[in-house]
Amino acid sequence: MAKTMAVNAGSSSLKFQLLEMPAEQVLAQGLIERIGMDDAIVTIKYDAKAMNQGGRLDDQLVDDSNITISKDGQTRKYETVLPIKDHQQAINFMLQKLTDLGIIVDFNEITGVGHRVVAGGEWFNHSVKVTKAVLEKIDRLADYAPLHNPANAMGIRAFQKLLPDAVSVAVFDTSFYQTMPEENYLYAIPYQYYTRYGARKYGAHGTSHRYVANRAADMLRQPLKDLKVITMHLGAGDSITAVKDGKALDTSMGFTPLVGVAMATRSGDVDTSLIYYIQEREGLTNDQMLNILNKKSGLLGLSTISSDMRDLLAVYDTNDHARLAIKVFVNRIVKYVGQYIAEMGGVDALVFTAGIGENSAPIRQMIADKLAYFGVALDEAANQKRGEEIDISAKDARVKTLVIPTNEELMIARDVELFK
Ligand code: AMP
Repeated sequence: MAKTMAVNAGSSSLKFQLLEMPAEQVLAQGLIERIGMDDAIVTIKYDAKAMNQGGRLDDQLVDDSNITISKDGQTRKYETVLPIKDHQQAINFMLQKLTDLGIIVDFNEITGVGHRVVAGGEWFNHSVKVTKAVLEKIDRLADYAPLHNPANAMGIRAFQKLLPDAVSVAVFDTSFYQTMPEENYLYAIPYQYYTRYGARKYGAHGTSHRYVANRAADMLRQPLKDLKVITMHLGAGDSITAVKDGKALDTSMGFTPLVGVAMATRSGDVDTSLIYYIQEREGLTNDQMLNILNKKSGLLGLSTISSDMRDLLAVYDTNDHARLAIKVFVNRIVKYVGQYIAEMGGVDALVFTAGIGENSAPIRQMIADKLAYFGVALDEAANQKRGEEIDISAKDARVKTLVIPTNEELMIARDVELFK
């Protein structure tokens, strides 16, 4: 059977999902953390049904003490700690373990590997088969995503060495946004910075927005090209995207994922002059200031308590700072949605996705309440549901509001299918 691996390689981590394609059945998913350390952690979760593919009776090649089995016996988790020196060793170990666990019989069953690549610049407006030239471009685009692209490229090279016959596909976070018109992607700064340095809006989370926008059209039984949709990816990173005529029209993230709405620890939009003002008074270097905007701002910075929305909601009634952080979070989202409704000349559907969007009824309600003027209204009971695909709009709402769990891995695996 043909299997596809969807991979998200970070500088010291590697997340993966193994799917049976085109059946779209998830066989296993896992994470390798602390690559490069003596105590790297490997976790593989898999469905009992995914085992015994090769006639092996059980996960008998693996020490039982590494495996925990869910109460209903359906899902298993393999976990171990060991020294792993690099990505190649990490992937080799993971593939070997998938074999030992009986999930694959032979590495060659994996006929495709799809890689998340953060920055695609203006070179990639869709997913592509990885060639030497593509890989070189991904390397060169490291300027735009210094923490991510080199790691993504490392993952691609390591898989190519271990699975030389599998088709290798790069899926870019930015490609969905290459349809934005220039009035939306250009900043109002001297034009030469765009031509010289590619200084423009590229957006992020594109794979997630592309997936949920298409699912929204499926749920509404209308072609996406006939709909005006605003997708809200609300997790640790947060972004809002306007989709019109089946294409991305605008999005809240920019040259980097730092701007747009307020996030868990990222500031979102801030007056640039204020940054220099603070930097000067606090005696901060550029890196220190950027670190504050990326890691110490957003929900964490305003609340002073936590970057996790659950912690803040738990003390909403008693802690002024937590309440303030939530109010700012909701307010920024509402502003972007309003802006996009104006840009699109209306909206047919709003979509909530990612950690907060999929799970938090109170945040969805607060956002919807502020958009009542546009005809947004929620069904209170439906809105209480968590983590499932559901229409939560009230019967008389003029705008549909949907909750759609994102599935970037599936989108990546589907893109790989196009090249098999
Ligand atoms: P993600 O980046 O999509 O994994 O989302 C992670 C974030 O989702 C966490 O930091 C939490 O703030 C948030 N989250 C997850 N579950 C809930 C929940 N039930 N209520 C509110 N926020 C949640």
